[in-house]
Amino acid sequence: MAEKDLYDEFESISNQLGSLSGQIDALKEQLSKDLEEKEELKMENHNLRKQLEKLGYEDKSFNESELPTSRLNLEKLYHKGFHVCQQFYGSHRKENEECVFCLGVIYGNHSKPNKK
Ligand SMILES: [Zn+2]
Repeated sequence: MAEKDLYDEFESISNQLGSLSGQIDALKEQLSKDLEEKEELKMENHNLRKQLEKLGYEDKSFNESELPTSRLNLEKLYHKGFHVCQQFYGSHRKENEECVFCLGVIYGNHSKPNKK
């Protein structure tokens, strides 16, 4: 291989490296922008939630997911027509009538609206 060819090849590889490095820099920049944007969105989401709380808005799905699993299980049993309260635990609710004791057991403090 002539020295000229070797030199050309070296030049071409070095050009490719240069362009790759440029692409990497662009990707890095894009990534850091994305991360920045993500943090901004997080903060914004957080602030909006706070605003909504101030206005007394209750995010039902959010609260439901906060209900502990044990209570969710009780809720399921209750909806299947069983009592989950101490008074009548395990017995059938007659004609699916509401039971204040059961609701107290399942929802407890969660049923109080708009108060912490
Ligand atoms: Zn009950």
